[in-house]
Amino acid sequence: MTDSAAYDAELQLFIDGSWRSGEGHDAAPVINPATGETIAEVPLASTGDLDEALAAAERAWPEWRAMDVEKRAAILHGAAALLRERAQHIGALLTQEQGKPLPEAIGEVIGSAQMFDFFAEEAKRAYGRVLVRPTGQRSIVIPQPVGPTATFTPWNFPIYLLAKKVAAALAAGCTVISKPPEETPGCTGAMARALSDAGIPAGVFQLVHGVPDTVSRHLIGSPVIRKVSFTGSIPVGKHLMKLCADGLKRVTMELGGHAPVLVFDDCALDKTLDMVVPQKFRNAGQVCVAPTRFYVQQGIYDAFARGFAERTKALKVGNGLAEGTSMGPLANGRRVPAIASLVEDARAKGARVLAGGEKGDGGFFFQPTVLADVPLEAEAMNNEPFGPLALMAPFGTEDQAIEQANRLPYGLAAFAFTENGRRANRLGDAIEAGMVGINSFAISVADAPFGGVKESGFGSEGGTEGLQSYQVVKAIHQA
Ligand code: NAD
Repeated sequence: MTDSAAYDAELQLFIDGSWRSGEGHDAAPVINPATGETIAEVPLASTGDLDEALAAAERAWPEWRAMDVEKRAAILHGAAALLRERAQHIGALLTQEQGKPLPEAIGEVIGSAQMFDFFAEEAKRAYGRVLVRPTGQRSIVIPQPVGPTATFTPWNFPIYLLAKKVAAALAAGCTVISKPPEETPGCTGAMARALSDAGIPAGVFQLVHGVPDTVSRHLIGSPVIRKVSFTGSIPVGKHLMKLCADGLKRVTMELGGHAPVLVFDDCALDKTLDMVVPQKFRNAGQVCVAPTRFYVQQGIYDAFARGFAERTKALKVGNGLAEGTSMGPLANGRRVPAIASLVEDARAKGARVLAGGEKGDGGFFFQPTVLADVPLEAEAMNNEPFGPLALMAPFGTEDQAIEQANRLPYGLAAFAFTENGRRANRLGDAIEAGMVGINSFAISVADAPFGGVKESGFGSEGGTEGLQSYQVVKAIHQA
């Protein structure tokens, strides 16, 4: 447990360059999911706070967009350095609020620092182009920052998903108001503190905890906000898009997934199992790109299922702060009955439980669970489980596997394991997803685009495309 004074310092709103504590504000409890105990209260922004944040974002924008890009980049690099320096402190806050094992939490802080470093440099490559006409006229195409931006991010990777949006938007020259998830306010407050200590000018970056519906309606309803970026569930994404439609706000939507994993007879079986099991249960399966539907070719189906179950049973479930924990609790209480009901439904429809299947003791624990022979009509095969559930079913031919992979309205990540290079090329082309990992799970990196197709959303985060999502282009035609 972190020192309580240091923790309280992070539980504040950050508006117009100053920190606001709970005094005079409504508050929500913060719960440690490993124990179920309330560990703190987070102040919720009032509409007055939001109005002040909007006014500050508008005021700060002209100076921030006009700032020499080297200076802007130096502030972002400064924030990255502070995140690295404070990774242990921020990681411990994250584990205490969200549950993931400490090494994963520290890794998330380091990944967030990489985002700031990448976009600090990418800002310097915001090139335009010149079209030279035979008449002597020149058409000049320039990118410009879209303007004050509102971001809404979830509790599964509260720091990394926030950093992805904020680093890109700030690098592009936008001012940003962020609503992080209420479940994990201390670790996101600590990220805001890194930006503040790195010298971000007042109003350029602001953090407002609050009741999600109140904050999103208020910010999206304001003419100050020009762009909205959301990561979270599909129903909330659709709701926010409807709010955005009224003001024709630009949007980036990074929504849920239901990643298929196609495992072919010709894969390196043990190597594949050693990779997929830890990935399945990373962050207790609460990952939008988590491998979820394992379609395994008939020749290795039994061996794969057996090896998967053995490795799963060897995982150590517990408090993320304890040494050697491989999987922590679910992040909030409502997810435990949600997962239990998916398991029960699959079991009733004929699935075999090869490992786990029950909720754990104390806190919000659910056992890492492996289900084999899961029929298509099981609810978990159709709706994102977002928990520690591996679903398995056999397939015969490559075409059948591709058909299953593309069957659902989701299209975020997909994975395949094969040692056949030609097959790998065909799969990469045919699978409908924003990211395809072949013999690899390394699909979320600072320098490549990350985003979905179909109902998994649109717009990219990461890479050049991530910067472009906070820019508009202008063509200037000069005779
Ligand atoms: P939820 O739909 O209630 O909330 C999802 C996220 O959206 C949360 O962070 C929440 O604070 C935020 N949110 C909710 N209503 C909002 C509003 N009106 N305005 C702005 N933000 C709002 O779901 P949940 O119970 O928190 O999570 C369960 C489901 O959410 C999962 O099954 C999964 O599908 C999805 N999810 C996806 C991601 C992702 O990375 N794509 C992350 C977290 C949750």
